[in-house]
Amino acid sequence: MAVHGIDLGTTYSCIASIDQVGRAQMHRNQEGADTTPSVVFFETSDNVIVGQTAKDSAVIHPDQVVSLIKRDMGQDAPRAMHGREYTPEEISAFLLRKLARDAAADGEPVSDVVITVPAYFGAAERDATRKAGQIAGLNVIDILSEPIAAAITYGVLNPAEDCRILVYDLGGGTFDTTVITLRGGDIEVVCTDGSHKLGGADWDEALVQHFTQRFKDEHPDVSDPLDSKETEQDLRKIAEDVKKALSARVKQPARIMHEGRATTLEVTREDFEALTRDLLDQTIDITRRTLDTARGKGVTGFDHLVLVGGSSRMPAVAEALQKEIGVVPQLRDPDLAVAKGAALYAFEETYRRLVDSGETAKAEELALGAGLSREQQEEIAGRTIKTVASRAFGIVTTDRQTRQHRVSHLVHANDPLPAEVTKRFATLDDFQTTVRIQVMEQAGAAESERFEDNNQIGEGDLSIPHGKPAGFPIDVTFGLDTSGLLHVTARENETGRQLDLDIQIGGMSEEKVESSRAALSGIQVS
Ligand code: AMP
Repeated sequence: MAVHGIDLGTTYSCIASIDQVGRAQMHRNQEGADTTPSVVFFETSDNVIVGQTAKDSAVIHPDQVVSLIKRDMGQDAPRAMHGREYTPEEISAFLLRKLARDAAADGEPVSDVVITVPAYFGAAERDATRKAGQIAGLNVIDILSEPIAAAITYGVLNPAEDCRILVYDLGGGTFDTTVITLRGGDIEVVCTDGSHKLGGADWDEALVQHFTQRFKDEHPDVSDPLDSKETEQDLRKIAEDVKKALSARVKQPARIMHEGRATTLEVTREDFEALTRDLLDQTIDITRRTLDTARGKGVTGFDHLVLVGGSSRMPAVAEALQKEIGVVPQLRDPDLAVAKGAALYAFEETYRRLVDSGETAKAEELALGAGLSREQQEEIAGRTIKTVASRAFGIVTTDRQTRQHRVSHLVHANDPLPAEVTKRFATLDDFQTTVRIQVMEQAGAAESERFEDNNQIGEGDLSIPHGKPAGFPIDVTFGLDTSGLLHVTARENETGRQLDLDIQIGGMSEEKVESSRAALSGIQVS
């Protein structure tokens, strides 16, 4: 009985589980690599290719290849391929199927999993990630924030130490910073911040623009290289290769071809850093903001700065952090720390649940499989993980006089989880039979009552008993669980009766998930 942790990354994904001596261990894919590019190539209507081959195919078949799908999670952004529309959940499910299938080649089938998401991911994105797992036929035990996963890996490496950790996670398409405390083995998230529009791909884009400009300067008589999808994909690939090379070397040559013409150039690390300085500055600003929030919650300073995510390999990252924040960052396993932490968490969570439900024989079997001593088992059973809400959540209310809409919040960003908050609302008009409940999630970096500063993530109608005058009270309760998934209920205050409220959070209903799973299982993934 194995449980797995999956880092479903914007640009690369990977999967880990616990070995016979209790260590988190990566599973290599069929191609022999620890990480798999999060790229899906829809070759035919019944054959999908995931990973490096898909990434390489992007140059020749740009219209049939999907990358960076994580940026669309929780949004209504289907992609049409071979006459069918695929939701972001479904496209992510192909990535998960490839990871699970390749990991199963190591011996045990993959069924129970924990999937990680950026800490600032809201309820809709978390829900979409869980549904992607279900469509892939997996049993998603939990959705875990990436910095918590990294902190677990780190905490396991330094079990005896009480400390405050700042996690700086710069991945392929996303960035987040989180302050975490480790105390007596317990893990507590103090606060988190980030941007899902900032990551390694933006550094690549800066190089693509630079290459394009250089090409245009040299060959003003041919078309713009970015007008050709093939050249664009090619440029993106060269850009990523040059960027990675510049993490080790101080200069790197590149050759750009378009319409039979070529431009050869050399990029120095200095040029590259100058081209991307504003991107790095954005991450430093967000890091400062996170530290300010932590200070407001009584956590002044931190003991360790842990760098996570492949893009934190760029030397400029550690240099800037050291200069701006004044600590030496630690860079350990940046690409794998999250999946390993997720595997440890999946293991511990499963063990705890088995112990809590009295299934001691199964718990014992799991612990023995990982070679855990009695002492380690007790330590795991007693450990707690406390996390916070990544964003503010509320519902839309209408002012009785002005009839203007605003968002009234029930849960605020960085509120401890699980959170259960009830707020009293009232009907606007006499004899209303229903009330439309629109569930809103903070869209920007700060909480705002303005309707346009929030995203609608769910809606539903609430039935009101007959003959009630305006001002009939309704108590709405938001329950945000530790994985950041939201449950909404409403109660009538007169009788205490639960009102009929059918709220659909996220894009896909459970029925749609089930039919999608069945439909997609007929498609071959390799
Ligand atoms: P992740 O999503 O955490 O796997 O991060 C992947 C991102 O890290 C991609 O944008 C990669 O291009 C980037 N990356 C991986 N290795 C390096 C490296 N050596 N130098 C710079 N960026 C890298």
